[in-house]
Amino acid sequence: MSITDETIHGLAARLANKEITSVEATTAFLERIKAVDPKINAYITVADEYALGAAAEADKRIQSGTDVTPLTGVPISVKDIFCTRGVRTTCGSKMLEDFIPPYDSTMITKLKAAGAVILGKNNMDEFAMGSSTENSAYSPTLNPWSTAHVPGGSSGGSAAAVAADECTASIGTDTGGSIRQPASCCGVVGLKPTYGRVSRFGMIAFASSLDQAGPLTKDVEDAAILLNTMAGHDPADSTSIDAPVPDYTAKLKDGVKGLKIGIPKEYFIEGIDPEVDASVKAAIEVLKDAGAEIVDVTLPHTAYAVSVYYLVATAEASSNLARYDGVKYGLRIDPTGNLTDMYCATREAGFGAEVKRRIMLGTYSLSAGYYDAYYKKASQVRTLISNDFDAAFKECDVILTPTAPSPAFKFGEKTADPLSMYLSDIFTISCNLAGIPGISLPCGLSKEGLPIGLQILGRSLDEETVLRAAYTFETATEWHKAKPNL
Ligand code: GLN
Repeated sequence: MSITDETIHGLAARLANKEITSVEATTAFLERIKAVDPKINAYITVADEYALGAAAEADKRIQSGTDVTPLTGVPISVKDIFCTRGVRTTCGSKMLEDFIPPYDSTMITKLKAAGAVILGKNNMDEFAMGSSTENSAYSPTLNPWSTAHVPGGSSGGSAAAVAADECTASIGTDTGGSIRQPASCCGVVGLKPTYGRVSRFGMIAFASSLDQAGPLTKDVEDAAILLNTMAGHDPADSTSIDAPVPDYTAKLKDGVKGLKIGIPKEYFIEGIDPEVDASVKAAIEVLKDAGAEIVDVTLPHTAYAVSVYYLVATAEASSNLARYDGVKYGLRIDPTGNLTDMYCATREAGFGAEVKRRIMLGTYSLSAGYYDAYYKKASQVRTLISNDFDAAFKECDVILTPTAPSPAFKFGEKTADPLSMYLSDIFTISCNLAGIPGISLPCGLSKEGLPIGLQILGRSLDEETVLRAAYTFETATEWHKAKPNL
């Protein structure tokens, strides 16, 4: 198997038995990026020297046998939303085109401490707002399976880079589906952990009560390995959970005998693509054959999830994005020397159309006279959605659904109608509103040759069971082995 085809655990084994060095592996990935990325645009910044320096350090660790972790010397990439000290961090926006952070996000600190090699920063929808990467200020990412189709979003660069073997794995973020939906579109594994499981410190904020970082990988074992490093309490993020971090690889192989898998009728609705429906129903049979018990559950407030999300997320975004005013960092356009003109000119030039739309929606729903009718009401319905999951998890251990209502859509198909774009998140959003963990993994290919994703949701802080169910499905099937023909 070529180096760039490898999973994290596969490459770690080859590094450990000294078949190759990290510098050699990193060089192979940098060459792969050079060859393939002009067709895909999965990276905003490739950090050659930064990566090779880290690889040389990792080789010393491996040579001396000290401090070697499952990530030491392994080349990965990260969404361009994580602050990287000394490496440009744009968040997909013109606003941060020249922003070089003076500090690392906790995520990056942890990855570096584990000895991971960071190849560069992946493309994304601007400020993580979108489902296709068409909102990136640095041109969209193309889907490696079909360049006429979107890779999903907003972590589309991360998902495409993993699918195109431009890294062993990537880290993305998920506010309403931005890890799972692109994973589904690109045929890779994407895990959104429980809200608070992973620190948000140094991760550029979109909607702070929903944002969560997670891995995009070539298989389920790699997702568990990355989560082992990423998870844990961080005093710098007051919303991070102070709970012990289990070894997420420990129970992967325990199977699903006796596990109760809930099927919510609200997720198998009219309008869902028939090939998606058939693939997910086939996946249910696979898990049943593996010994799981299938039960019907209901999540009655599902129909409100998209509306609630687009009120809560935009409200939080309007507040978070107020900081981009041209004063402290980022773009500044100062046409007249007058402060108000400077604010207006900076924000007019720095933000794209979707970001402006969301700031306006969010400001409106928070404003006096509308707050009770919109933001407060949405927050109340959010609690009902969360309660639905609590009730369902009394009947089952995990919930199985499609990740997205269809395989990847075509470029331009939904840009004219933002509402139709918002609806593509219909199956991923509730999980963020409830704060629970969810994974997407490949479960089929459409007639057109596009990947289809299976979503598995779990109880709060029960990533272990989600990963175990996903691992059981993956080992019983071949879908994760399919590769795009680039
Ligand atoms: N597609 C959703 C949105 O546009 C989710 C984005 C995300 O999870 N960051 O808001």
